[in-house]
Amino acid sequence: MTQNFTQHDPGRRIQAARGTELTAKSWQTEAPLRMLMNNLDPEVAERPEDLVVYGGTGRAARSWEAYDAIVETLEGLDDDETLLVQSGKPVGVVRTNRWAPRVLLANSNLVGDWANWQEFRRLEAEGLMMYGQMTAGSWIYIATQGILQGTFETFAAVAQKRFGGTLAGTLTLTGGCGGMGGAQPLAVTLNGGSVLIVDVSEDRLRRRQRKRYCDDVDTDLDSALEKLMSAKRQKQPLSVGYVGNAAEVFEELLRRHHAGDIEVDIVTDQTSAHDPLAYLPVEYTIDEWESEAAADPQGFTKKAQESMARQVQAMVEFQDAGAEVFDYGNSIRDEARTAGYSRAFEFPGFVPAYIRPLFCEGLGPFRWVALSGDPEDIRVTDQAIKDLFPENTHLHTWIDAAREHVEFEGLPARICWLGYGERHQAGLLLNQLVAEGKVKAPIVIGRDHLDSGSVASPYRETEAMLDGSDAIADWPLLNALTAASSGATWVSIHHGGGVGIGRSIHAGQVGVADGTDLAAAKLEALLTNDPAMGIFRHVDAGYEKAQEVAVNRGVQVPMNPK
Ligand code: NAD
Repeated sequence: MTQNFTQHDPGRRIQAARGTELTAKSWQTEAPLRMLMNNLDPEVAERPEDLVVYGGTGRAARSWEAYDAIVETLEGLDDDETLLVQSGKPVGVVRTNRWAPRVLLANSNLVGDWANWQEFRRLEAEGLMMYGQMTAGSWIYIATQGILQGTFETFAAVAQKRFGGTLAGTLTLTGGCGGMGGAQPLAVTLNGGSVLIVDVSEDRLRRRQRKRYCDDVDTDLDSALEKLMSAKRQKQPLSVGYVGNAAEVFEELLRRHHAGDIEVDIVTDQTSAHDPLAYLPVEYTIDEWESEAAADPQGFTKKAQESMARQVQAMVEFQDAGAEVFDYGNSIRDEARTAGYSRAFEFPGFVPAYIRPLFCEGLGPFRWVALSGDPEDIRVTDQAIKDLFPENTHLHTWIDAAREHVEFEGLPARICWLGYGERHQAGLLLNQLVAEGKVKAPIVIGRDHLDSGSVASPYRETEAMLDGSDAIADWPLLNALTAASSGATWVSIHHGGGVGIGRSIHAGQVGVADGTDLAAAKLEALLTNDPAMGIFRHVDAGYEKAQEVAVNRGVQVPMNPK
């Protein structure tokens, strides 16, 4: 029997257990169980009734039947057994050992010639696959906070490059206020700027406003722009969400910019452009979206691509007019090019423009989650991490800002970018806090797939590599194998996250600090070897900075030219 991928259960409300009572046999299996459930908590997921966590249709499990079977299996799993999950469905349990992962996941992977949306959707409709995005299908999504620091760092780099180190007095225009894109308004205001964020969905904008990611929502463009231009003049931070279609609104703002009515300084976008069915074409209203996409996916795709071409053309013309413009990791340039817009790639992706130097140091989005559910545990860890790295003022500024501005969604969590040589120290510290009873329950330690050595994605993380190796996907596979050999509690290999089917392959890993000596040994290995992949990747591609980091920090690279 086939399972319908649009299976919908509005009656189901999932929330991870809190406290120290185990449902599974140990914390090593309780952790993936709670994190799967946390991904589907209505406070965390964008459409939990459809098992959709974020990023268009990024799902945590293939169907509700598969979800129930995963839960049941995890509850009975021993500490020398490993559950295998194929595109969101539990397909086997094997006897392994205590160092082996408790769960191995492979999501959305297709053989090269078949790796396109059309084939994926055929298989999905047959109930044979699901789209795992990055942290949706690998159970380590921590809602909008998960991308906030990365987005903050990106806008800080923009400020550094063009605006004297602050966005005060600038106006940013962007689109898409969903699970990840919703971090943009706060990331801009934390850098001192003002920002207009356009989304077709008033609900999504209001959701971010409720959680203080966005200051204001307006349905009138004149009034939204008036507020923003006044904030820009007074160099005050302000974010306003505007309900509209980005393709139309970007064109309209370009017209007003040319007319001298407004001045836009920075332009980007985070609509779900990676999946044309998750981008609303200008022809349709939000109420028509689902039925039109289901009735004619091909026709809808074409219209979505045409709208994206209009939006990207406006972005290119903003760049012509002097604005700082970048692609924010959703592959909108390639969709626009597919629709026939030949200048689509004239603005850069955000990784080569701002993030690659960080990747050369193995820096990336390290995160942890308090399985107790108690926010006090995160407060304890925040302080402990600050004490561990007393010299790192940038990290202190970030943690203080996060404490003030981030409201927890689901299990309390923290994100903070750490590099090679730092992550394992943080992991050991968190494990020690558990062992000493300074926090109430074990802590899950993971990261985004968007990391220094975990992705092959030529329109994003590996765009414009020095040696032209953008599309080589051996790296994320080596990364997953390394994590599985180094004590991770769950490891995943996905295809298509961020930029869509056919365009990326990436790996994830999660460890569990349960306070035991075994966990300490595993975390030390895992959190040393995982960021080492970022160094290997960038040494090999010829980045001098990575070559020096390898020498200075004792990372063994047999053919390092330094
Ligand atoms: P999401 O599906 O939760 O949200 C997308 C939003 O876009 C929705 O609110 C939707 O209403 C809106 N939208 C769709 N079409 C629109 C249009 N024509 N005009 C205005 N709004 C429109 O997705 P998400 O998790 O926020 O991710 C957004 C994109 O960013 C995805 O492509 C994802 O892969 C990518 N992404 C980038 C990064 C990064 O660091 N750069 C990280 C994660 C995700």
